[in-house]
Amino acid sequence: MSLIKCPSCQNQISDKLELCPHCEYSLNQSGDDLERLKVLRYRKYRDKMFRFKMLTFTAMAIAIIGLVPMLWTYAKAIDYGFNANFLNHWGVYLIFIGFAMYVGVRASMYVAKSNYKAGKK
Ligand SMILES: [Zn+2]
Repeated sequence: MSLIKCPSCQNQISDKLELCPHCEYSLNQSGDDLERLKVLRYRKYRDKMFRFKMLTFTAMAIAIIGLVPMLWTYAKAIDYGFNANFLNHWGVYLIFIGFAMYVGVRASMYVAKSNYKAGKK
């Protein structure tokens, strides 16, 4: 019996074990299995990122739906010489919601990315 390093958690473990006692990493996978798992993991990650990207587009669309009528009001305000109060415009809420959603999705993307790179999930 000799000691090897667990490829997942880097702890010293016996090479006779099938499962790492520290992180339950399965040690009896053949190279092919590992390669397949890597591909599966990448696909899952890619699909997740794709959904996040769609959400950022949705967030941007929501903000634009709020922004366009505000610009319209702004253009009219210039034409007719009145002061438009944009903080009272309903478009502000959509811009705010879109922006908050965008920031939230970007943060989730960042977390998912660092988890993927760190080998988690
Ligand atoms: Zn381990």
